[in-house]
Amino acid sequence: MYGVYVHIPWCRLRCPYCAFAVSTRKDPPHGAYTDAVVREWALRRDTFGGRPSTVFFGGGTPSLCPPDELARILEALNPEPGAEVSMEANPGDLPVPLAAFRDAGVTRLSLGVQSFDPAVARRLGRGHTSDDARALVAEAQRTGFASVSFDLIFAVPGQTLAAFEADLDAVVALAPDHVSLYGLTIEPDTPFARSKKPPVDEDLWRAMYDAAADALSAAGIERYEVSNFARPGHRSRHNEHYWRARPWAGLGASAHAWWPDGTRAANVADAEAYMAAADPLVSAERPPPAAMAYELIWSTLRHVDGVDRATLRARTGLDVRVDPALVTAGLLIERVDRVCLLPAGFPLADGLASRLAETLAAADPPPALPDTSAMSDDGAPRRRTGRT
Ligand code: SF4
Repeated sequence: MYGVYVHIPWCRLRCPYCAFAVSTRKDPPHGAYTDAVVREWALRRDTFGGRPSTVFFGGGTPSLCPPDELARILEALNPEPGAEVSMEANPGDLPVPLAAFRDAGVTRLSLGVQSFDPAVARRLGRGHTSDDARALVAEAQRTGFASVSFDLIFAVPGQTLAAFEADLDAVVALAPDHVSLYGLTIEPDTPFARSKKPPVDEDLWRAMYDAAADALSAAGIERYEVSNFARPGHRSRHNEHYWRARPWAGLGASAHAWWPDGTRAANVADAEAYMAAADPLVSAERPPPAAMAYELIWSTLRHVDGVDRATLRARTGLDVRVDPALVTAGLLIERVDRVCLLPAGFPLADGLASRLAETLAAADPPPALPDTSAMSDDGAPRRRTGRT
């Protein structure tokens, strides 16, 4: 079981907080970019074998890409029947109706609404208004996709808890199937960083995160990963590959991948260099066990199912020792087969993952099993019957 992430790098303008690999070229060469993605898949297909169970078009702004080009990529990927095919779409960045993407094979939408608060939408400088966001949601829900997810941002400089709670009311009223919730991080070398606006303090960040978890849960949209909430049956199957340590392919400029043999791979970030490359890989290496274990803990602890210790042991030969104080504090729960976050631990997931990773040590050998070669099926010593 694996997914394929396809990075579409084009954006109409660069948002002032964005540090992703995007290109704001006026007339993106969609056809040439699709050719390069199809060419790259021909190089990687045998590494993965079989057919992908999920495809995710992310970006950038995939909704700027003509639906025929996405259909051409899907034809090359040949996902399995019933595969989840997600696409990110931004308000105001939709040259054609959403129905054309549905007809091209997209089953799930991830809408970059970010906020329904006009003041916050303005401050984010994304070039769309809260009315654009509402119009996109209405079109998505009218068009008929298996799932519609909203991306929301909180902890925007100047945003108050009351304003965010009002935003949450607006979200809940629109009945999303899924919500991805991101606290704004001020990345270096972005206009936001240069503006020196003070980030929201830690207490307010925590109050906003808890308010979101409570409001969404009360609406039947349950947390299943630190930043992701879904109604039953609407989890992102693609993103669960990341959080359950399953392999995924990454195609396109700046895409990263985790191959089935544990290799971590990354592509060249620049879109023009990607299209020009015979093979766009810039790195592909199998991390040593400790690094692989850290990554596995960091990605899987975030999910409600937590760290699967059998997988950790099998892939790295290492296991964690849980500090009883973290259990007593109600942050983690330790089971024989896994370590999971408790509700109070979710906002602290990254720190707790680091604490767990510090305890990594050689896994205990599995308990010795009795030698059954001389036993009968019920465990009694076998008797020679004289038959051969
Ligand atoms: S739309 Fe998304 S990817 Fe594009 S510039 Fe804005 S935040 Fe970055």
